[in-house]
Amino acid sequence: MLNQATEATPSIAERGSHQRFWWALLVTLFVVFFIWGFFQPYPLNLILWAVGLFFLVIFLILIYRSARAPSKIELAEIRRLIVCDKCGVETEGPYEAGDHVFREIGPCPRCDGRLYIKAIYSIEKKEPLKRQQPQKETIVENEVVKDAG
Ligand SMILES: [Zn+2]
Repeated sequence: MLNQATEATPSIAERGSHQRFWWALLVTLFVVFFIWGFFQPYPLNLILWAVGLFFLVIFLILIYRSARAPSKIELAEIRRLIVCDKCGVETEGPYEAGDHVFREIGPCPRCDGRLYIKAIYSIEKKEPLKRQQPQKETIVENEVVKDAG
């Protein structure tokens, strides 16, 4: 149940270190070509500086693109599933600070049972623009099987 929420973490870290490697490489190439240009005679130094500048431009484009692209965390939404220990009604809603599995939420609105968190998980966000209305807890399963008699 809980590991679903942390599942996305390694790939984000992996992507971040991969990105930083390319940034470091491009900056290093820029510095190397720029310094190298100082030790060369006139026509060659301009070529080396131009190549160095080219790496710098690629680096700046990468920085700009990564600043604009939403991260995986922004695309994920953490949800919680609440269940009643008596009637079993399940409601799903947005994660709130301090939530954890088996945390008690309060009395059940349908019976005198207690509501507790059954699961916390992440889902992919729908289009971010469609989230204008405040999120309310929605009943997932309202078919409560009652004993006949
Ligand atoms: Zn209940």
